[in-house]
Amino acid sequence: MEKSQEEIIEEMQKVVHQMVIDDLEENPDIANEYFDCDCCGKNASLAGSIQYGDYRLCNDCVLLAETGFALGKFTDIQDLMDAMEDKRLEELCKFIKNEEIRKTQLENLN
Ligand SMILES: [Zn+2]
Repeated sequence: MEKSQEEIIEEMQKVVHQMVIDDLEENPDIANEYFDCDCCGKNASLAGSIQYGDYRLCNDCVLLAETGFALGKFTDIQDLMDAMEDKRLEELCKFIKNEEIRKTQLENLN
């Protein structure tokens, strides 16, 4: 069975969130270390960030990158950098955000 887009996104959210946990376990000090994300420009925690070639991406953008790769939206990190100004990726961002809101709402019900 092919995985649905929703399943892939949910899986990536878990994987990418785990990166933050792993980073903090390995080096608790980075909880207080920040950098400017090359992708979204936000000042973000080093925990869960990843270096892709010339760019260091915050955990939010890592989620976008990994989800985009997993869904075949793009194959190169440069495509994500270019696509950050692209409406289609905005839609993907919104979609992921909505998924997160939906998940939070579900968690709150429990
Ligand atoms: Zn970012």
